[in-house]
Amino acid sequence: PLSDAFLAGAKTLGHSVTEDYNAVQQEGFGRLQMTIDRGRRCSSADAYLRPARTRSNLEVMVGTLVTELIFDGSKVVGVETLRRGQTERIHAGSEVILSAGVINTPQILQLSGIGESQHLSKIGIKTKVEAPGVGKNLQDQVSAVSLHGRKDKSPFLSMMRADRIAREFCKAYLLGTGFAADVPGGVTAFLRTREQLSSPDLQILLTAAPLVAFPYMKPFRKPFSDGFVIRSVLLDSASRGVVQIRSSDPTDKPLIRYNFLSVDTDFETLRAGLKLSRELVETPELSSFVTQEILPGSAKTSDEDLNDHIRRTAITLHHPLGTCRMGLEKDSHAVVDQHLRVKGVDGLRIVDASVMPDLIRGNINGPIMMIAEKASDMILGKAST
Ligand SMILES: Cc1cc2nc3c(=O)[nH]c(=O)nc-3n(C[C@H](O)[C@H](O)[C@H](O)COP(=O)(O)OP(=O)(O)OC[C@H]3O[C@@H](n4cnc5c(N)ncnc54)[C@H](O)[C@@H]3O)c2cc1C
Repeated sequence: PLSDAFLAGAKTLGHSVTEDYNAVQQEGFGRLQMTIDRGRRCSSADAYLRPARTRSNLEVMVGTLVTELIFDGSKVVGVETLRRGQTERIHAGSEVILSAGVINTPQILQLSGIGESQHLSKIGIKTKVEAPGVGKNLQDQVSAVSLHGRKDKSPFLSMMRADRIAREFCKAYLLGTGFAADVPGGVTAFLRTREQLSSPDLQILLTAAPLVAFPYMKPFRKPFSDGFVIRSVLLDSASRGVVQIRSSDPTDKPLIRYNFLSVDTDFETLRAGLKLSRELVETPELSSFVTQEILPGSAKTSDEDLNDHIRRTAITLHHPLGTCRMGLEKDSHAVVDQHLRVKGVDGLRIVDASVMPDLIRGNINGPIMMIAEKASDMILGKAST
């Protein structure tokens, strides 16, 4: 009922409702879409890797850390790995595809001497390719929440009673159906906070559950306080961070500096989201569900109050990208070309979130799979460009 009231409240405020935000109309409120197959979340391993496991040309080596690229002149010809304390050199038949993600792909490049010479020389690594863009341009979608107390006993609170949720987990596991096979709430919106923008810069996510929840059973454990959360997500952050290795040891964690909220416009957009959340909660459709605003708290109205709330509670939506971005030949900070090939070397491609030059106005998992689909066409020589 809360989700329906949320959509109705959005309409009352004059917002549009979109049937499919991945189709022609992104802007507006709509039901959340997920990668689900027969009631279960379908990962890239489920969708692509498991069906290919019996192929004779595929070997998955778990517990194996790629530590460095192997060069023959300016060509990358393989990788060095560490497995159970043993170093192994693996040679590639035709090329090496690096897909270690937005943090570890730049780490492996830097460990292999592909990076900014000024940084690499400080930690005793000889520069093979001057590539100042490696590890730079780290971007992510950061978010702030408002938390609202709920008047009626929500279906979520009711179903979280220990005996009920145990039954629901079994049902979800065995049949892929029922309460535990879905996320509570499941309504989202993509909106423009300023008229002049050409595409949405704010995402709203309704979670029909409070920030703290757990199975309970009286008299052993009391239920949690009921409530719901409206999350405002900055789709298009202007802040830029960096990933840098701290030493030449491949097992040493790299430094990750996000620099979240380092520009005023990021605060402005998130404040607009918090204000809109308030307006939604005050609509006749939603107000009947609400006891009070718990976070940021109805007394927190000034820009400074809201900025303070954002600073203290902002979290990432886990959509980092951009640390080996694609770009034109003349762009000295572009790491890969339009064929995902690392500039300045032969035999090396990158296929992961690090190649995305900029945040997209939505979640990034689907687009990364599309990059991988396109890459497979490029590798097989089937891509048109
Ligand atoms: C908690 C969480 C929730 C998320 N929820 C969503 C969501 O709801 N929707 C959405 O669109 N996106 C979501 N994302 C983001 C999405 O999962 C990522 O954007 C996506 O998985 C990135 O894909 P990738 O191929 O670039 O890297 P990854 O999926 O990170 O793959 C990199 C792989 O390389 C391996 N690796 C790294 N270094 C080495 C090394 N040195 N040697 C060997 N292997 C190595 C890693 O173990 C990993 O398996 C979420 C992310 C997180 C963390």
